[in-house]
Amino acid sequence: MTDNGDGAPLVRLENVNKHFGALHVLKDINLTVFRGEVLVVIGPSGGGKSTLCRTVNRLETIDGGRIVFDGQPLPEEGKGLARLRSEVGMVFQSFNLFAHKTILENVTLGPVKVRGQGRDAAERRAMELLERVGIAAQAQKHPAQLSGGQQQRVAIARALAMEPKMILFDEPTSALDPEMVQEVLDVMVSLARDGMTMMVVTHEMGFARRAANRVVFMADGQIVEENTPDAFFGSPQTDRAKDFLSKIL
Ligand code: ADP
Ligand code: MG
Repeated sequence: MTDNGDGAPLVRLENVNKHFGALHVLKDINLTVFRGEVLVVIGPSGGGKSTLCRTVNRLETIDGGRIVFDGQPLPEEGKGLARLRSEVGMVFQSFNLFAHKTILENVTLGPVKVRGQGRDAAERRAMELLERVGIAAQAQKHPAQLSGGQQQRVAIARALAMEPKMILFDEPTSALDPEMVQEVLDVMVSLARDGMTMMVVTHEMGFARRAANRVVFMADGQIVEENTPDAFFGSPQTDRAKDFLSKIL
């Protein structure tokens, strides 16, 4: 467990509701993520975890309640929305790298196109970040030439290149072969130790125990339990959580 940050809220969800047609996917969600905190979200498939992540950088709109990021309501469109997307990084299960671009180009594209950085400065920074995630030697290759674990580490470097205030991880290791899971988790643990604010959807309970400040258990569109990792794993309060943990541990 890490204890970073100054404890001020970075993102606050207040009575957030979301429907997909008749399906009520987020039901009155109230949740705050504090600066420097690592919040792990776990729960059964279909419970709304991905949708929750996606509302925070407004890849999904909400239809009730509000979300406050860094003191401001989430912007609806335009420059505000572009800035939000650069301030809230996202790492997906499926890496989502640009297949026809090199690793280096994948990492410099956002800083150059969105943040208006000069190419030289962006490349220097990208190489530092690739070094940090252990991929610098692969900078001129294309994503398909890298393993899944390497590609996911590039995706993390790409998110970091935007200098985000927070990174959302949606099951970042679920698509990886087992032997590659740890190399990605190690990078995430090191980010956590450096004080990055992170919201992480994962089934990796070892990561949750090592790095999380708080665990949120989500099922059926609701936050069912919220606790420290020790308390949550040691003595889950609800039958729902007990049942879930008995299946994955
Ligand atoms: P989780 O990540 O916990 O598995 P999701 O947030 O992906 O859950 O999905 C929650 C529910 O919303 C599921 O029933 C899913 O099928 C549904 N859902 C997710 N995205 C969409 C969408 N774009 N359109 C319609 N239904 C969706
Ligand atoms: Mg999901």
